[in-house]
Amino acid sequence: MPSNRIEIDPIYCKGCALCTIACPQKLIEMSDALNEQGYIPAVISSGNLARCTACALCARMCPDAAIRVFKSVETDGGQS
Ligand code: SF4
Ligand code: SF4
Repeated sequence: MPSNRIEIDPIYCKGCALCTIACPQKLIEMSDALNEQGYIPAVISSGNLARCTACALCARMCPDAAIRVFKSVETDGGQS
């Protein structure tokens, strides 16, 4: 079954953590490892990403455009 999802590009993330605050589902957390720029990047929580509503609040909050949101779309056949 298709579901909404997000992608966080660790190359662009500056580790500001605004997205972790913005997500009403609390699906984003901070990594425990540094990225290539020496920042601690945001990562998708190991929690249930199926709860993502594709609201895009995380992406809109991100000052570095590091987050992309993919919204599941049902087709006539019920699949996407
Ligand atoms: S799109 Fe919405 S629900 Fe999904 S991770 Fe971003 S803020 Fe959370
Ligand atoms: S808001 Fe953007 S830059 Fe800040 S931690 Fe989240 S993904 Fe990284």
